Amino acid sequence: MNKVLFIDRDGVINKEKEYVHHPEEFEFIDGVFDALKKFNLLGYLIIIISNQAGIGRGLYTEEDFKNVSEWMLEEFRKHEVIITDIFYDPHHPVYGVGKYKKDSFDRKPNPGMIFKAVKKYDIDLKNSLLVGDKLSDIEAGINAGVETLFLVRTGHSVNEIIIPAGCTVIDALNDIFKFLG
Ligand SMILES: [Mg+2]
Repeated sequence: MNKVLFIDRDGVINKEKEYVHHPEEFEFIDGVFDALKKFNLLGYLIIIISNQAGIGRGLYTEEDFKNVSEWMLEEFRKHEVIITDIFYDPHHPVYGVGKYKKDSFDRKPNPGMIFKAVKKYDIDLKNSLLVGDKLSDIEAGINAGVETLFLVRTGHSVNEIIIPAGCTVIDALNDIFKFLG
């Protein structure tokens, strides 16, 4: 079975700006390549799970998202980081336009994207990790049964008062290694 690092994109891999959908807006957070390379070496598959309601809101298209993802994966490859897969959800329950207006089971905090990944790859959730910059990322992990959860301060501001049990607040991705056995 595979152990996985489930990782949010915006605010964790790239600097949080509203609705990043073009390489020119995409700024990697310092230390991301080194940290993810280390996860690869430790035998973790890296799977990105990302809400992309900007698509549903009509701010950019699935094509735009796929293009920026291809570009991002190529940047990772140049730094010897292998990303196994990217799951995204384009819907929004309120502001989605047309077919994108939907209370999606894949949209975090719902666990659908993680369940899809589990179906596609042979994943050992007990030995897997999840990192995000928002409470909804952590809740998706909890709802899917991921037990080791990290809230990183590189993106949205973190409200210490509402940290769920089992979730560790960290300053940077590299801090995760301190908690691994
Ligand atoms: Mg985020």
